[in-house]
Amino acid sequence: MIKNLLIANRGEIAVRIAQTAKRLGVATYAIRTEKEPSAVYLSKADHILDFKGPNKKESEFLDIEAIIKMAKDNGIESIHPGYGYLSENALFAQRCKEEGIMFIGPSADVIRAMGDKITAKDYAEKSGVPLLKGSKTCVKTSKEALHIAHEIGYPVIIKAAAGGGGRGMRIVNKKSEMEPMFKMASTEAQNAFNDPSVFVEKYLENPRHIEIQIVADNFGNVVHLGERECSIQRKHQKLLEEAPSSALNEKLRDEMTKSAIALAKAVNYQSLGTVEFLLDKNGHFYFMEMNTRIQVEHPITEMITGLDLVELQLRIASDEKLPISQKDVKLKGWAIECRINAEDVQSNFAPCTGTIRNLRLPKGENIRIDTGVAPGSEITPWFDSMIAKLIVHGETREKAINLSMSALRQFYVKGIKTTIPFCKAVLTEKHFRSGSFDTSFIESRLKSPVFHEENEELLAALLAISTYSQETTPETSSETAINPWVLNRRIRQL
Ligand code: ADP
Repeated sequence: MIKNLLIANRGEIAVRIAQTAKRLGVATYAIRTEKEPSAVYLSKADHILDFKGPNKKESEFLDIEAIIKMAKDNGIESIHPGYGYLSENALFAQRCKEEGIMFIGPSADVIRAMGDKITAKDYAEKSGVPLLKGSKTCVKTSKEALHIAHEIGYPVIIKAAAGGGGRGMRIVNKKSEMEPMFKMASTEAQNAFNDPSVFVEKYLENPRHIEIQIVADNFGNVVHLGERECSIQRKHQKLLEEAPSSALNEKLRDEMTKSAIALAKAVNYQSLGTVEFLLDKNGHFYFMEMNTRIQVEHPITEMITGLDLVELQLRIASDEKLPISQKDVKLKGWAIECRINAEDVQSNFAPCTGTIRNLRLPKGENIRIDTGVAPGSEITPWFDSMIAKLIVHGETREKAINLSMSALRQFYVKGIKTTIPFCKAVLTEKHFRSGSFDTSFIESRLKSPVFHEENEELLAALLAISTYSQETTPETSSETAINPWVLNRRIRQL
């Protein structure tokens, strides 16, 4: 096992990585930046290294050479990039290798191949994985895109070859929309990924997003850890995930996992990876992309498999053989993850900044919280809006939904708006509860404001007050429950 590890990330994932490293006896180093000098993740590492400016990049966590220098200067032998930032940057993986530092992830060649969605699709096709119809190479002009759309039929989607986070994507429903949409997609791709390359593929209406978690060691062993259902999305970004998926039966699961493993073997994959698919109403699935890093939603797989995915990453990087074979992987029960984002749901999920003045996290059996914030944490525009993840495990889907709901009722954040009320609305919606939903869920089922932030806040405040009252002055609890003036006074005190 490696001796020490630089965590080239922040927030909840830095906390998460530090937890496993600590358990395995690996010394951890966190990076402190001027933007959040007292962030929670810093207190979870064994050592703190200050990022010495000036930072030449958009973020300190994107500065390849500065991060490598930090590792070398401190005798650190490995770097975990988490997700986002440099996690899928082939140049970073390559530079680590050149400097004799272990990059926790696959090789630079694999990251490069899978990072380009067109090359990834090419590998998928060669390994017999089903693909949506579309361009085989990058499309340079809107005229070329029109030609392809004419061949495969509308609607089509224009996607950035280097895409991620739902950016650089535009749906084109008819011929007249092509030119402006093409321009928008390639400009967005250039701005977000410094690469204007786009491609065109058939737009599947109302599909489900299902992804397969795979893990591969350096000795050719590849194992799948089941699927995750990620169809609850806003702006093509995931908001609530579950594992397994109610859309799969054993036959389909077998076909999809076989496809994922075939692709991983074709690219000689090593480390943890996710193969993403779209599934249509007729049970046909199509390859979308492969993510060569740990995913935000990895805890739901951990819940149903009992495995620690960060541990697997560290063991594989340390050249250990996979400690499990396919027959050892037993998927048990149901897990749900709710992403708690600092966002104003009523304003189209606009990021919300401010100070977390009070925070009460749910606790209990089968409830897990991954977070990098605490009371007093500043939510700034510098970072991603996700502040916590609520992950629960139940014997059945229904039990997992009910446990998520009761945990969300205990979850209380004061000072910023969050997606907590939104998650509650999803979990109580009848189509979600019956398992019949797709990626259009938010648009089609939650379009009208079915919930009100103020009421939710009041509800949360009421809960907080009842606990507060029980803990302090029991006689006030009945008073608070009936008297709004007392309630408001108490809210201000929280
Ligand atoms: P990113 O890498 O930016 O996350 P993905 O390729 O993973 O982009 O797609 C994100 C989401 O966009 C998918 O989960 C799905 O909802 C939607 N999407 C992407 N491609 C298609 C398609 N061809 N048809 C329908 N929806 C699509």
